[in-house]
Amino acid sequence: MGLFSKRKTVFVDADILVIGGGMAGCGATYESRYWGRDKKIVVVEKANIERSGAVAQGLYAINCYMGMQWDENQPEDHVRYARNDLMGLVREDLGYDIARHVDSTVHKFEEWGLPIMKDPETGRYLREGKWQIMIHGESYKPIVAEAARKAATEVYNRIMVTHLLMDKTKANRVAGAVGFNVRTGDFYVFRAKAVIVAAGGASHIFKPRAVGEGMGRTWYAPWSSASAYALPILVGAKMTQMENRIVLTRFKDGYGPVGAYFLHLKTYTENAYGNNYEPTWYENTKELVGDYIDRQPVPTCLRNHAFLEEVKAGRGPIRMVTKEAFQDPHKEQVGWENFLGMTIGQAVVWASQNIDPKEINPELTTSEPYVMGSHATCSGAWASGPEDYAPDEYQWGYNRMMTVEGLFGAGDTIGGTAHKFSSGSFTEGRIAAKAAVNYVNDLGNDQPQVRESEYENLKQVVFQPLETYDVGRNEIVAGTVSPSYLLPIHGLQRLEKIMDEYVGGISAHYTTNEPMLTRGLELLDMLKEDLAYLGAEDLHQLQRSWELQHRVLASECVTHHTMFRKETRWPGYYYRADHPKLDDTDWHCFTLSQYDRESGKWTMDTAPVYHIVD
Ligand SMILES: Cc1cc2nc3c(=O)[nH]c(=O)nc-3n(C[C@H](O)[C@H](O)[C@H](O)COP(=O)(O)OP(=O)(O)OC[C@H]3O[C@@H](n4cnc5c(N)ncnc54)[C@H](O)[C@@H]3O)c2cc1C
Repeated sequence: MGLFSKRKTVFVDADILVIGGGMAGCGATYESRYWGRDKKIVVVEKANIERSGAVAQGLYAINCYMGMQWDENQPEDHVRYARNDLMGLVREDLGYDIARHVDSTVHKFEEWGLPIMKDPETGRYLREGKWQIMIHGESYKPIVAEAARKAATEVYNRIMVTHLLMDKTKANRVAGAVGFNVRTGDFYVFRAKAVIVAAGGASHIFKPRAVGEGMGRTWYAPWSSASAYALPILVGAKMTQMENRIVLTRFKDGYGPVGAYFLHLKTYTENAYGNNYEPTWYENTKELVGDYIDRQPVPTCLRNHAFLEEVKAGRGPIRMVTKEAFQDPHKEQVGWENFLGMTIGQAVVWASQNIDPKEINPELTTSEPYVMGSHATCSGAWASGPEDYAPDEYQWGYNRMMTVEGLFGAGDTIGGTAHKFSSGSFTEGRIAAKAAVNYVNDLGNDQPQVRESEYENLKQVVFQPLETYDVGRNEIVAGTVSPSYLLPIHGLQRLEKIMDEYVGGISAHYTTNEPMLTRGLELLDMLKEDLAYLGAEDLHQLQRSWELQHRVLASECVTHHTMFRKETRWPGYYYRADHPKLDDTDWHCFTLSQYDRESGKWTMDTAPVYHIVD
């Protein structure tokens, strides 16, 4: 017990607590200050907001911009696009809400110094595609973070949030969060009137293609550790569409982006024998999903499906034809700059593998699955919609409030709203913040209170892996192996193996079925039992321990959802071999889950999909 009593507890009070200072968190912070001039706005981030989150390395394109000032697109067009890409299932109220505000966000980015490329002929933003505009975005994140820093009352960097705190009197009301400083080891208790979770998506729940010392080389940021899902799940917030994991077609081994190549450089793919393989799989795909294959643009998952089938048929590797485009010096420059601004590693991989895209058409691959809410996928928390646009059934409180009172979310955290990307995530943060300020104002004297016993108990729980290690290290039998603890890396590898083999990862060709999922859940249960024996050598490993805890809970949620939806809605993302076809009669709906912390049981349900836009 000595270990715990020595640890300092720091108390922080906030009107609005933003967890995660990535794109959505920075948007939430900025907007909280706009509507809440007198409010105490606190951001807590496990890294440093200057370079944290999925945009840490920079981006080369903003993927969600309507261009309403030039009448390029209207918000309704974006809803249709996202609905089509997600095979019919999106929260149209939430998507519309983001689309109608996203342009103003992008204009702010430009005002704050983000260089956006211009079309020399029209003077408009240079389009990469219908929704994407091109930026010189190496410093995208620092620019956005500066706005958040100036808006926040306090930013607490290097604090990993592990749990949310609930109100003493109202069981379903949030009252704050706890975490620890990953450098000093101090325990932090944040007491807040409203909490906005903006903690990003989830990589490393499925085994990555690159293993061993290369395991950090995933497409989604390796530090996206599912806190966005685990924190709300643990306090009983409902989740939606958690089965809708995403698989990306990207350049092999570096996961360099292909968007600019397809859209701007007009490159295309071919199989090992130089043939266009997508038409080969048209009839097969139609069998599975009906006329979704005839929609334009062809949904992302279905393009993956053709890729996967072609490789299974033995005609891989699939290559991107770059040799033609790269003869044009302008395109060659854009092709390289695209990586230098956001995925330098791809340029390094090509250099190390003797690939000059002017001479050799580079290989593509499909990634391991990720769970997130902002890309061509929409897993996340079930949130209340905008009051002027959401159907009654989608409104139980303030905009972007989850099913827990006072708990809001944005970006990867919120489900049902695909294709928000960086700009849409920031915008959703702004939307959630405006609602959270209203919520706090409406609280009056009825303010949430934390329970001392709850955070004292959590303090014990949070640091337990250090204690377990300290005691167990004397029993090390060989190398790092001890009979009395499990290291976070070992737990992570076990999790990834279970998810990979049983829940539709790469080694199972993204395929699963009910018996596999049932076994997967049994193995996850056993893993959870062992997590009580996690051992952490230092604070860094303590962070890894809690990231693992969050990943395991999110994985359990993904597995329950995958079991519940008895169809294959998104071939190319995953396949239910026992229900191989899309089934619009029974499953044109959202899936919902709720976790009960006391019993450890999950309750599954469905919610209707309302098509608001024609
Ligand atoms: C490789 C790649 C390419 C992309 N390309 C584009 C593109 O070209 N254009 C585009 O517009 N978008 C692109 N995106 C998408 C964009 O990055 C995301 O949509 C956006 O960053 C999501 O915002 P977020 O705030 O939800 O998550 P993030 O920006 O990832 O922020 C989450 C934050 O939460 C913090 N955090 C996590 N857990 C905790 C915890 N427990 N305690 C405290 N803090 C925590 C993280 O450190 C991080 O700072 C790309 C993403 C990736 C990974």
